[in-house]
Amino acid sequence: MVSRVTPLRYDLAVVGAGIIGLAHAALARERGMSVVVVERYDRAVGASVRNFGHIGVTTQEDEALVHARAGREYWLRLAAQAGFWIQPAGTLILARAEDEHAIIEEFAAQRDGSVRVLDARGVREIASIADPRLLGGALCEDDLRVSSVEAIPAIASYLAASGVDFHFRTNVTGASTGVLHTGRGDIEASTIVVAAGHDTDMLFPDLAEEANIQRCLLHMLEVDAPPGSVFSPVILTGTAVLRYRGLSQRAAAQSIRDRLARDHPDLLAALVNVKMSQRPNGRLVLGDTHAYAHTHDPFREEELDDLLLREFHALLGAPLRVRRRWHGEYAHSETEDYFVREPVPGVFLACVTNGTGMSTGLGFARSVLDRVGY
Ligand SMILES: Cc1cc2nc3c(=O)[nH]c(=O)nc-3n(C[C@H](O)[C@H](O)[C@H](O)COP(=O)(O)OP(=O)(O)OC[C@H]3O[C@@H](n4cnc5c(N)ncnc54)[C@H](O)[C@@H]3O)c2cc1C
Repeated sequence: MVSRVTPLRYDLAVVGAGIIGLAHAALARERGMSVVVVERYDRAVGASVRNFGHIGVTTQEDEALVHARAGREYWLRLAAQAGFWIQPAGTLILARAEDEHAIIEEFAAQRDGSVRVLDARGVREIASIADPRLLGGALCEDDLRVSSVEAIPAIASYLAASGVDFHFRTNVTGASTGVLHTGRGDIEASTIVVAAGHDTDMLFPDLAEEANIQRCLLHMLEVDAPPGSVFSPVILTGTAVLRYRGLSQRAAAQSIRDRLARDHPDLLAALVNVKMSQRPNGRLVLGDTHAYAHTHDPFREEELDDLLLREFHALLGAPLRVRRRWHGEYAHSETEDYFVREPVPGVFLACVTNGTGMSTGLGFARSVLDRVGY
């Protein structure tokens, strides 16, 4: 039942029921605030339910690493409170070439015991990798895996039961000091956090433009796992050096980039990150490609899916039956990883702009609320 909003006054109004909005709501509620979340759709259908569910701590660097470490503990606590599936199964970075092996050894040496280097046999005990080029892998033991399509609604239900008010199917049209403007009327709140993800550019176009925010578009697939296979950790491959700062800054990264440019220009052109995560029902979530623009064409390019399927066929040694295909979008900035602005007193814009919102968003939200003074 959808109705007009009741004219209550809250300590905090949050725009968006994705992971960043929910993280702010959960942390503020824990700190004793009265909280309302306003979401334009029936439920979250944005980046937070379209991703791999990979909470990757170890491959982050700098501020992202600080947020990810803080966020990890909070994910485990939230999972226990809200009762959703979470796996401390880690991330496995595969090495299928000498330079990839060099990078994982260098990475493990710099990560203080949280990364274990495995030989090919050790890898195959926890992941059914058929590719004969496999040399070994690095297991990042701190990393977590959730099923986003279940975890995000579970967090929202848990918060609703804990006293957070939700207004779904309610579009926010603007925010001024103390008042959130929606298509169903105004909501009064001492503080407003706008966690609208890539739609931040719709609500605050000038500020988004100043921060060079664009939309990153990704192709994703869901396939049946090959019969009898097991994939406990999230799987990353050599292309991860193109995306994770914890890896891209290692000495061997340039050799991998040069080799990809020489041998696989199609992977570089589509900015492919060969990455995979298993859902609780056994299906594999495969991805991903990256393209940056303010507005993307609405068409899915079949060639990009073919490219992903070719790579996974080589990795898993079996033809794959596709069950679902989708696009995801997230906000991306070349110049800042975390976008926080206060355009008018008491209205905060909070957006993760480096594509790591599942991994670092909970820690990031805590830093925003600390800044607000809650
Ligand atoms: C395909 C894909 C794979 C990814 N994989 C990973 C991964 O493995 N690990 C990782 O750490 N990160 C990953 N990410 C990034 C991560 O998913 C995002 O950083 C994160 O989900 C962003 O969360 P959010 O809450 O800001 O945005 P969203 O989840 O998009 O939520 C924003 C919400 O705001 C609502 N909203 C917007 N405007 C309004 C309005 N005017 N009024 C009311 N409501 C509004 C939207 O409807 C939406 O529900 C991935 C992203 C994608 C797309």
